[in-house]
Amino acid sequence: MKLLVLPGDGIGPEIVAAAVHVLKAADAKFKLGFEYDYDEVGFASLDKHGTTLRDETLQNARGYDGIILGTQSHADYPRPEKGGHNISAAFRVKLDLYANVRPARTRPFLPSNMKPGKTMDLVIMREATEGFYPDRNMAMGWGEMMPSPDMAISVRKITRHCSERIARRAFELAMKRSKKVTAIHKANSFHMTDGLFLESVRSVAKEFPEVQLDDLLVDASTAYLVRNPERFDVLVAENFYADILSDLASELSGSLGLAGSIMAGDTLCCAQAQHGSAPDIQGQDKANPASMILSVAMLVNWLGEQRQSTALIEAAKAIDAAVDATLENPSYRTADLGGTLGCKAFSERVAAAL
Ligand code: ATP
Ligand code: MG
Repeated sequence: MKLLVLPGDGIGPEIVAAAVHVLKAADAKFKLGFEYDYDEVGFASLDKHGTTLRDETLQNARGYDGIILGTQSHADYPRPEKGGHNISAAFRVKLDLYANVRPARTRPFLPSNMKPGKTMDLVIMREATEGFYPDRNMAMGWGEMMPSPDMAISVRKITRHCSERIARRAFELAMKRSKKVTAIHKANSFHMTDGLFLESVRSVAKEFPEVQLDDLLVDASTAYLVRNPERFDVLVAENFYADILSDLASELSGSLGLAGSIMAGDTLCCAQAQHGSAPDIQGQDKANPASMILSVAMLVNWLGEQRQSTALIEAAKAIDAAVDATLENPSYRTADLGGTLGCKAFSERVAAAL
């Protein structure tokens, strides 16, 4: 199996190297047979090729079994005319990686940012190809617009097709967990857009009679995340709501540095940490690579499910368990969790735990 590795910007190269180190250890143990090709995206590519993402990189990506994508300093890129392209957005839209799967859970041995005694174990299923983001609507000629210098308008696209397919992924995941899905929306105000989203989720629910579906207004859901996070298992939401909720959930659960995710399509999957490029700690060996290591574990699990390969699924579980076993020891924690261990040393500990 061939993986495409794109280190990216900021702490990307450090946490990607750490994750690849752990995956190689898992490979040695479970005989997975991964091969790695590297390419540049972000500032490394801009300096060399005048663009943060070459078409060639995007086209080549289709031929791989999986992608490992580092963080990107998208906010610092120049305008698109000057070569600054949003890499994650291009991957999501052009490769149709429509399901951004974002888990957040507390660990009994780690301090969380929640009220004492509260625990969290949830997965946010984020639709990633439409919604408010202007670059997801460009193809239709809609981005943001300014009819006058003093007025700006933002347009959100919601389709039945995209809402139904993300709902289906949420229900499938719920079948493997506690059989509960919560649809997040604001259909009381956005009758058409959120109304269509909610209607789509409800229609897919009929295919999964064993799964209990409820729904919550997005504003109320932030309060519930703080007050009663145990009420959630799988949440499904359109792009923007899910983006905000998942940062809240992962920070509540302990640290953004623990927040792994995948962007999955029907035939291709990309591992990507939930957080940004953390330029404040870049190049200092201070980043917590757990987010990227756990993202890679999710990719390995996704490949395992696609191929019905027990070795891959077991390897994914083992990586997860090795991260937990490492975090359990306070002297093996990175600075974001109050520890002193560096990024590289953390990955060596995880590999040893494997
Ligand atoms: P960007 O512009 O790329 O979004 P950012 O700094 O706005 O970067 P994040 O990268 O998400 O946003 O970081 C928010 C905060 O969380 C920063 O203080 C950062 O150092 C911290 N952080 C994010 N990821 C990690 C990590 N893996 N390990 C340690 N700290 C992290
Ligand atoms: Mg950010």
